[in-house]
Amino acid sequence: MKKPIIIANWKMNLSLASSISLAKDFVDNLIDIKDKDVVICPSTMALVKVEEIISNSDIKLGAQDVFWQESGAYTGESSPKVLSEIGCEYVIIGHSERREYLQETNTMINKKIDACLDNNLIPILCIGETKDQRHEGLTDNILYRQLKNALDNIHLVANEKIVIAYEPVWAIGSGEVVEAEEAERVFALIQQILIDLYPLTIVKNNVRMIYGGSVNSTNISSFSDLELLSGFLVGGASLKTETFKEIVQAL
Ligand code: PEP
Repeated sequence: MKKPIIIANWKMNLSLASSISLAKDFVDNLIDIKDKDVVICPSTMALVKVEEIISNSDIKLGAQDVFWQESGAYTGESSPKVLSEIGCEYVIIGHSERREYLQETNTMINKKIDACLDNNLIPILCIGETKDQRHEGLTDNILYRQLKNALDNIHLVANEKIVIAYEPVWAIGSGEVVEAEEAERVFALIQQILIDLYPLTIVKNNVRMIYGGSVNSTNISSFSDLELLSGFLVGGASLKTETFKEIVQAL
């Protein structure tokens, strides 16, 4: 298995004070985790404070979104250059909530990935089908299109890394998780699409595939035998240190 990565997506769930307190709790309780990458993605407003707290630990900082230009007249947006400056190493891109509520398109996602790589940020690209798309047998088409469009003209080179998060939209926050066998089939499909795009060494060394969608300390064991899985993107269950730690330790 590649070095596992477990990403906490706190979304817009916490106040600044709660973000600070949870970050402190993560530092205190995850101190002995050395063989895995643990990433916290707080809301944009909490990034700087959380960075101060985790800076002397092995926990890494991630943003929940980014804009595709480094500077300019783009009201309300976050510069990839500044995210990098404040200590972010990762950025979640194309989360289904942004695709749904902010009409984020594959073209925008593609530009954001490019901007991340230009600024030493590792994109966490989220892809996934809705329940209707799955029922209509469109899962593979959707994943293929999301991946191909997001990575269009992205030439990953030796020192550039990317994380692909398979997050079925119907599994996010619903309590439902994908069957392990189906997840492995999807990861094999994603890997094949990547092999068509990049040299094998890049796919092997620079890309990690992870799962997200209602992962918790109870269902985590169903994913333990997946060969292609390198980690998890965790929403709700990342808001409690104890539950998150159980997920981190389970891998
Ligand atoms: C997510 O939104 O990325 C996510 C995985 O959420 P949850 O774990 O709450 O389903």
